[in-house]
Amino acid sequence: MVQPAELQLLKEVSARLGRDMSLVQGAGGNTSVKEGDVLWVKASGAWLSEADKRDIFVPVDLPGALRALGQGIEKMPVADPAAKLRPSIETSLHALLPHRVVLHVHAVNTIAWASCAGVEPEIATRLDGLAWARVPYRRPGLPLSQVVAETLAQRKPDVLILGNHGLLVGATDCAAAEVLVHEVERRLHLPLRAAPAGDRTALEALCRGTDYRPAADDACHRLATDPHRLAIVTKGSLYPDHVVFLGPAMRALSAGETIATVVAANAAAGLPPPVALLVPGAGAVMRSDIQPGAEAMLVCLALVAERLPVDARISYLPADEERALLDWDAEKYRKALSLKA
Ligand SMILES: [Zn+2]
Repeated sequence: MVQPAELQLLKEVSARLGRDMSLVQGAGGNTSVKEGDVLWVKASGAWLSEADKRDIFVPVDLPGALRALGQGIEKMPVADPAAKLRPSIETSLHALLPHRVVLHVHAVNTIAWASCAGVEPEIATRLDGLAWARVPYRRPGLPLSQVVAETLAQRKPDVLILGNHGLLVGATDCAAAEVLVHEVERRLHLPLRAAPAGDRTALEALCRGTDYRPAADDACHRLATDPHRLAIVTKGSLYPDHVVFLGPAMRALSAGETIATVVAANAAAGLPPPVALLVPGAGAVMRSDIQPGAEAMLVCLALVAERLPVDARISYLPADEERALLDWDAEKYRKALSLKA
């Protein structure tokens, strides 16, 4: 199929967004452009950071997508039978927004606000003058699209703050949409709280003889050297990609535990070894066989957590939502693609 000119611009914008860890991590986030009856949307499992190097956009039949959504069908109709990739899980969000260009990012300031309860008045002050709306958490895919459709039936926002998830913006062209992403993040900016650096020597000693290694990014270690952050991230999960790639909440080593004892306890309970572990006061370790996608998700958590104020009232994903994410076939497909990347 012939690709529209705006898609070339979208590829450039997507690559820029995708290479900024404070906006997109791993295979998260997705972008689209509408041209006539075709919605060009990022493929499931593809990385936005590679948008200018690989063909990661799939043409979707736009009227067909809206019909499917109205009938409660999650699978989106691909417009080109030769397309090899599946459209993003979040394609229906892109179809629903009337804007020509739609960008969805897991921007860390937005996620921090979207993970807190009772912050609506403060968000309203900060986003004053923009056409925005906040929608409650729903599982990405059909449930999230349905709640967004309900919001769009009442008003026409250009900015949607997706509860416990991220940011969705729409605009008439790529340049305006990219500006809007940065404008929202600038207005929602939260100062970084300082924390001691990680202790790599201690982490390397702990990892010796195990299948684990210290996390590469220093921000990850500060999840474990700051008691406030440690308490937040071990109590529950803040947003869906965390659950899909790292499992529910974070596991921290207790006094007397070693990596080997945690792995053995998991095996006895029929669970896989944790993807990542926090060592209080020292830092974060990850399984050595883990792919960049999962490590990017730990960095995302670190970037969100260092922005959460000490008095924040955290709103965690309910346990049944965590289970729904882990049992979800569409996410298993995306995760499998990401691991191959
Ligand atoms: Zn998302």
